[in-house]
Amino acid sequence: MDEIRIKALKLYGYHGVFEFEKEEGQNFYVNATLKLDTQMAGLKDDLTRSVSYADVCCDIEQHFKDNIYNLIETAAENVAIMILDKYKLISEVMIEICKPEAPVTQEVENLSVCITRARHTAYIAYGSNMGDSMATIESALADIDADRCCTITKKSKVVVSSPYGGVEQDDFYNGVIELSTYYEPKNLLMFLQEIEKKYGRTREIHWGPRTLDLDIIMYDDLIINSEKLNVPHPDMLERDFVMKPLAEIAGYRLHPIEKKTIEKLASKIGSQYIK
Ligand code: AMP
Repeated sequence: MDEIRIKALKLYGYHGVFEFEKEEGQNFYVNATLKLDTQMAGLKDDLTRSVSYADVCCDIEQHFKDNIYNLIETAAENVAIMILDKYKLISEVMIEICKPEAPVTQEVENLSVCITRARHTAYIAYGSNMGDSMATIESALADIDADRCCTITKKSKVVVSSPYGGVEQDDFYNGVIELSTYYEPKNLLMFLQEIEKKYGRTREIHWGPRTLDLDIIMYDDLIINSEKLNVPHPDMLERDFVMKPLAEIAGYRLHPIEKKTIEKLASKIGSQYIK
C-alpha cells in the first residue's frame, strides 16, 4: 500500500490533564501516515484520485482548535477516526501526537502517543428468541450502526430457525450483517457484549433462550485463538442459520482456515435448522 506522510505538523493545543495545560496551552507536533492506493493518481497526474495532504493538515489543525482533551491518546484516536471517516480512499492511518513540553520533572526530548487505525470488515451473526425478537434485532442493529466505530454495510434477510442444543424453547430469528469497523477484534467483542447486555441477554442456561446473541463470525482474513475470542467462529460451519445468511452477503469470501468460498461451504450443509 502507498503512503502519504506528514511529518511534524506544528500545532498549538490545550490537551492535558492539568488545568494550566488547558488554560495556557503548548506546542504539539503531529506525524501522520496515510495508507492508500496512489497508483492511478500518479499515472493520470490527477489529485481527485488521491488525498490532498493540504486538506488533511487543515483538518487536523481544525480538530486541535475545536477540541480539548485530557489525553493525547484521545486526540490521536479522534484525529484517526476523523480522517478515516472523511477520506474513504484511506484504508489505514498512523497518527503520532508529540508533546515535547509535557509536564514531567525529568529532562526529555519528546513524549508521544502513536496509534494505527484501519477500516476492517467483520461479519456478525445475530440471534434472538425471547420477547419481540424482530424489534430487538432492529433496534440492536440500529445501535451498532450508530456507533462511531461501526457502519453496517450489508444485511442478510432474517431467517427463522428451530432451536439447537436440545433445550425446549421458541424458534430463533437469525441473520448476518457485514460491518465496516475501526474496532480491533477484542474491542469489537466488548462492544457487542455491551449491546447484548443492553437488550437484557440472560446466560442462565447454556444453549438456552436469549434476547440477543451476537457472534463475530469472521474479521478480515484473521485467525484468532485466544481465551475469549475464536475467529472464524468455530461453530459457523455447522450452523445453516449462520452460513446461509452469510452466503447471501459474502458468498465470494474465502473462509481463512477452510480456504473455500463461503458459497461452497454453505451449499454443503442442508437446511437443518432453518424453517
Ligand atoms: P455464546 O454465549 O455462546 O455466544 O458465547 C459467548 C462467549 O464466547 C463469550 O464469553 C466470548 O468470550 C466467547 N467467544 C469466543 N469466540 C467468540 C466469537 N467469535 N464471537 C463471540 N463470542 C466469542
